[in-house]
Amino acid sequence: MKDLKWDGIGHSRLASLTEAEFDALLGPILNDETLSILSPLSLYPDIPDAKHWARHLKNWGEPDPEDYSIVGMAIGLNSWHQSETATDIRWARVLSMVLAAKVIFQPEMKHLVDEIVGYPDVGDLRKVRPSIRAMEQSFGAPELQAEATQQGSWTENFWTQSKRETECYLLPRNIVSSADHSEISRQIISCYRALAKHFNDQESYVVADARLDASFGIAFYMIQLLATMIHGRSGSRLEGRIILRTMAECHIVLSYLKEIDADATWAQYRNYGTGQAKLAFLKIVDLDSKDLPSFVKKDDLEELANEDRWLEFVDIDLGSWAKMSLRDMSERAKKKDIYDKYYGWASGYVHGHWSAVRDTVFDLCGNPLHRFHRIPGPPRINMADATPDAVKLTNLTLDLVNALYPSFKPRIKIS
Ligand SMILES: [Zn+2]
Repeated sequence: MKDLKWDGIGHSRLASLTEAEFDALLGPILNDETLSILSPLSLYPDIPDAKHWARHLKNWGEPDPEDYSIVGMAIGLNSWHQSETATDIRWARVLSMVLAAKVIFQPEMKHLVDEIVGYPDVGDLRKVRPSIRAMEQSFGAPELQAEATQQGSWTENFWTQSKRETECYLLPRNIVSSADHSEISRQIISCYRALAKHFNDQESYVVADARLDASFGIAFYMIQLLATMIHGRSGSRLEGRIILRTMAECHIVLSYLKEIDADATWAQYRNYGTGQAKLAFLKIVDLDSKDLPSFVKKDDLEELANEDRWLEFVDIDLGSWAKMSLRDMSERAKKKDIYDKYYGWASGYVHGHWSAVRDTVFDLCGNPLHRFHRIPGPPRINMADATPDAVKLTNLTLDLVNALYPSFKPRIKIS
């Protein structure tokens, strides 16, 4: 044993040992009980140290497929690198490095050597375990990478075989019972009617009152989006996030318009939108009806673009209507908190960012032998409910209407 080149752990290290060396080294655990636990190794006849296990395992050559569950459990227990069992494995690496004199300790660190050699019976394990993990991590990966290279395709074969021979296991989802929003639905209708009455009560004698139309228009738009969320039961689905993001943007825009509250800015908002209608119209005007997008009607666009003035005189403005980003708009309107809470993450669902796609489309396979890969799941209907957020943004927008055209008191309550 003295001359044994034992500077690490792993199957390829064990494979390089002679039968005598192997038996001497692992002698203490080569008993019936341990060999019974290790019997699943026979599932993998190409492990580098197979020749040694073939001598000791009774079921070698006759693997039991049921043993894959034991391998899976072992990997599952160690998937979290700070788990107790994972720490035990990392301790084995630390111990091998200590015994191979690859780590030099100062005399005052003798207690550390005692704790490593005597693990888990020496010292306070609440301190010993973290120090073992830290020490193992400090060794870095080169040796393990060299080990993997030496093992060649074995590691890959292990995962390929394990995945091929075992089934996916869909992790159970947290089932969220969908809340009953029928009371909100009733309030939406009465609130919409009250807002329509309040709009009609305004004595405006301007043909195109940009301030009036935008203030109430955005508020009506918010209520319709909320109604869409409620009636489509989409608060707990993907659509709820997309709707909420639009609501956050609308609220910030109206907050900004109210903050500035200048005729030119109200007009700028309105003219930009009209210009967008003209731009869209010009892009489809020469298309045959069979080439038109299904959601667009050419006549509707022409009418929208012509509503305030002849289409020929409408300017087309590119970029942002306010010449600033929504983030800047939110800061100017003192609504940065709304931007941070409701706009950023929800935008990921609008843009199809990876995390949103992952959250919406995929479930996790819980089979540790599959390395927790993703599998497409049924459409998610159990996301956290966006409805309370949508109600809040709607009420905050009604607050803006109340400030611009006092007084408007109805709000939507959520129990
Ligand atoms: Zn799987």
